[in-house]
Amino acid sequence: MATPWADERSLPATLQPCCQYRSISEASVADILADGVRGHLVPRLTTAARTELTEVQEILQSVVLTEEDDRRTCPLSTDRQLQCRDNLHKKGVVDDPVCELCKIAPETCTHLLLDCPFAHQIWTRLGYITDRCAASRIWELRRSPAVPAKHSECMVLLVCWHICKHRNEVIFQQLPPSTSRMIAACKEHANLWKFRLKIADRPIAEAWCQALCSM
Ligand SMILES: [Zn+2]
Repeated sequence: MATPWADERSLPATLQPCCQYRSISEASVADILADGVRGHLVPRLTTAARTELTEVQEILQSVVLTEEDDRRTCPLSTDRQLQCRDNLHKKGVVDDPVCELCKIAPETCTHLLLDCPFAHQIWTRLGYITDRCAASRIWELRRSPAVPAKHSECMVLLVCWHICKHRNEVIFQQLPPSTSRMIAACKEHANLWKFRLKIADRPIAEAWCQALCSM
């Protein structure tokens, strides 16, 4: 799907008087095309904003959504950047690529973050569906009903980060694998991350904690 919001000609950055009222940057292109841009702005606009609204509406008339591949990348999850065992094996750093948590498959990024029985158990108990999702397209992970849509990508990154931290604890500190230890650490950081959100959005982080507590 084409996403003109995300490139260097970002509408919120270019048309500031029009976009500053409401978080238009948080809406997808599909949302804007479906609802109309006016529905994503406050009722009363300044003269400058009304002029820009006309420009935005003209731009939107030329936007066509396609079935082309999404061009986003996930820096956390590409094989070049995450030092998973499969990657280290290819570089000659370790003798074999086998995952040290489950001992049953090569530790690729997708295996470590999604498919390893340990990770799969975490995602499933949180209510996510990992089927056929690749780490390099982590945004396609089907969201848990218990996690609000807004800022949901933060929850995904939080869990991915803690899966990596937990894996390092098992390998480098010889601690036993433990879902309860990983979830407790994840919840602790969710509580800290809450304070990076706007006050109005902090109940979202509390929903993350409730989802983690329900496991
Ligand atoms: Zn594994």
